[in-house]
Amino acid sequence: MITYKFRIYPNKKQQRKILYQFKICKEIYNELLYQNKEYLITKKYDFNSIIKDIKITCPAYYSKVHSQALQNISDRVSKALENFFRRVKEKKEKVGFPRFKSRVKSITYPQSGFMINKKLKLSKIGNIPIIYHRTIKGKVKTLTIKVNKFNQWYVFFSCEAENKKIKNNRLHNAIGIDVGLENFATLSNGEKVENPRFLIRSEDKLKKLQRRLSRKKLRSKSRKKVKLKIARQHIKIFNQRNDFLHKLSRKLVNNYRLIAVEKLNIKGMVHNRYLAKHIYDVSWNRFIQLLSYKAVASGGLLIESTKTKGSSKRCSNCGFEMEMKLNKRVFKCDSCGLKLNRDHNAAINMLKDTVGHTEISTLADDNVRPSFLKAKIYEARTKRDELLMKQ
Ligand SMILES: [Zn+2]
Repeated sequence: MITYKFRIYPNKKQQRKILYQFKICKEIYNELLYQNKEYLITKKYDFNSIIKDIKITCPAYYSKVHSQALQNISDRVSKALENFFRRVKEKKEKVGFPRFKSRVKSITYPQSGFMINKKLKLSKIGNIPIIYHRTIKGKVKTLTIKVNKFNQWYVFFSCEAENKKIKNNRLHNAIGIDVGLENFATLSNGEKVENPRFLIRSEDKLKKLQRRLSRKKLRSKSRKKVKLKIARQHIKIFNQRNDFLHKLSRKLVNNYRLIAVEKLNIKGMVHNRYLAKHIYDVSWNRFIQLLSYKAVASGGLLIESTKTKGSSKRCSNCGFEMEMKLNKRVFKCDSCGLKLNRDHNAAINMLKDTVGHTEISTLADDNVRPSFLKAKIYEARTKRDELLMKQ
């Protein structure tokens, strides 16, 4: 599944209508959850009968919201409960029953209730102006409407991804990528991808705002103002970075058939107090997620190298391992004399590690079907060594 995000501009009346729908959905969500608390012992959920009950007792609700959108609410409750039972089964500590919602922030139309023309036509709401900044490929499966706290409205289209045939000119290409702090990424062919200037500028601005905030008095008006500015700056950075990551991942997927990346230990990544580090952590994950779905959708392959422990400490030429302190930027092999940039050496290792591995894992976002991925992996396994020989 691929999700497209577009800005929409509902008028005041339409906004009120949508917000009212959010409110109804919230109440129904809570009602369903409450009823299920009762049913917990029997472990039987019959959402349809509950919805029917609400339908009879409060018909006014039903006239205002599209029936499909309500169906989606019961799906959300089911999902929350499923997750709850899964966590109970896994015996994770502190398993809490799903919470009642104080707000529902989005509404989803599965299958029907919307039409996409020059404007976005929504059942019970009307025609909403929309800015199509790109073309939608594939069949629209669901539509979701969201609003952020700055009253900016968005629509999300979830589409089934089309699986394109592998382009022949990419067949001979394989690349390893090392992500780092100095450069955003270093490729195994020595190319470096720097963090774009505009992002660095935006991040500097954020740091300045954060410093300003720390000087303000608690609960003062001016503190509130700075807080709002910080939130806006966060959104701006997120958008800028997202755009950068989308373009970079697209470029890589278009040029390389096989992409090897480091397996990032996401849980092990401590959210430390340095803001910049936090932003990088988040964007690495996002970057690999984007690479993954783009690679799969276009017939390529992303391989997570599982053997990267010490990929920067190992010589990519002879395999000799040696101590590499974090501040050492050049890898000088004591055994064979290889002299390479630290990240470049790591990126080559990343690529080499995928050869001869029996266990290779492919990262994918949750929406990509595992069976489909497995097929891709097997296909790639046979071609893999052959590809790498041609490097
Ligand atoms: Zn060496």
